[in-house]
Amino acid sequence: MYILTMATLEERLEQLGLEVVIGLETHVELNTKSKMFCACKNEDTDQPNIYICPLCTGQLGILPRPNQEAIKKTVELWVAIHGQITPIIDWDRKHYEYPDLPKGYQITQLENPIVVWGELTCYRLDGSTFTVQIDHIHLEEDTGKFLHEGDHSLLDFNRSGRALVEIVTTPSIRSIDDMSIYFEYLQKTVRALHVSDADMEKGHIRSDLSLSLRKKGTNDLNPRTEVKNINSFKFAKDALSVELDAQLSYWEEHNEPKQEQVTALWDVKEKQIKVMRNKENAQDYRYIKEPDIPAIDISHLAKELKINTDTLPFQIEDPIIKAGIHPKDAKFFSADPHKAHILFSLNKEVDDLGLTTKTLLNYFQEDDYTEENIAPLGEILSYYKKWDFSGWLLKKAMQQFMKEKKVDVKTVFVEEKIDMWLLEETIAQVIEENADIVEQVKNGDEWKINVLVGGVMKALGGKARGDIVKEKLQEKLGV
Ligand SMILES: [Zn+2]
Repeated sequence: MYILTMATLEERLEQLGLEVVIGLETHVELNTKSKMFCACKNEDTDQPNIYICPLCTGQLGILPRPNQEAIKKTVELWVAIHGQITPIIDWDRKHYEYPDLPKGYQITQLENPIVVWGELTCYRLDGSTFTVQIDHIHLEEDTGKFLHEGDHSLLDFNRSGRALVEIVTTPSIRSIDDMSIYFEYLQKTVRALHVSDADMEKGHIRSDLSLSLRKKGTNDLNPRTEVKNINSFKFAKDALSVELDAQLSYWEEHNEPKQEQVTALWDVKEKQIKVMRNKENAQDYRYIKEPDIPAIDISHLAKELKINTDTLPFQIEDPIIKAGIHPKDAKFFSADPHKAHILFSLNKEVDDLGLTTKTLLNYFQEDDYTEENIAPLGEILSYYKKWDFSGWLLKKAMQQFMKEKKVDVKTVFVEEKIDMWLLEETIAQVIEENADIVEQVKNGDEWKINVLVGGVMKALGGKARGDIVKEKLQEKLGV
């Protein structure tokens, strides 16, 4: 349930002359065969502590070796965000104490991350676009899982040391809806590139969300609240709505932004932000260079890797939306690149993306998107497009196709096609019988032409196409 409506929050922002400043740090678990610095399996399992070794459980004396597959998969993300590759990468140690991090530090990349700068352009549901600036993408190792059960706690190190990519935006997102769309785009992007399964329930993709407020037209970065570890689009929206409400209330009361920078968790059951601690600074983590892993030259990877960009969400949605299809339907295809592939393959033959998309959306169920199914469709749609058949005939052909998996286009279309002379004759007859309406149309009451269109369609039993009848009538009447 949405306790706070977006419209009310927008209204309050407007009244105070404020705008929201949102940034995301998204962690994505890569689907590599082994972990980031050891040979342990990277696989989800219900059995705790079976894919572990001395290295990923933090015991001394074993040197870490970077996983080449993980580095390549991170480089692939560079294409999706049009970023820059850092030619020579290295690693840093980030220190903190927590039971799920047994060696007391995490190997990450602070100074020389794999990708720097970049942007991701996304479609909103109203068809407009926005662009999120990406500060960098770095690679690091994941921590173990710390589970609390009753009066005791359990540790599972299966996840410890898995390859984790972190995609960090600048504070360039200006609304909660945009945040959610961008988060979805990231999930689609890593899936399209096959670098992660991005299963949210399994925690493969999770975001830390930062929100602050500022006066519109300024570049202020006021103290923010960071909500950690959100692995659902709904929770992300709920958490930021509650936080926005709180920050607005503070501003309304004190006429200034809240003063404390905090890190918090979202309590799903109580729908509340729970503050964990004041936000740490970089120096709190005592970063030092990782001495056990040499720097790596990755400049050749950008040239060598062949990356297919056809399956990226923007590349799929852009032509579909431009063909006049609703963005929500375009997002249906970007959520599943296989369906998008079926659509674009079919359209190669039909060459009318609007018609092809609508037909699939109208008639295809989930399981119908197969190569086998689209082969005969090309013929049906091409026939429909080539000759000016009515939508009624297309419907008939598609219904027959969905039932019998084949259609004899000649029977359905050609024999039932209204001959052009019959259409011309019927139009002439309707014009003759409706002299008064014809007069009104000619005198400027153009809407009345629809009465004549209706008359023609009725006389032909609905077998003609309304837009063609209208065009012919306009031609005849000179309007
Ligand atoms: Zn291991």
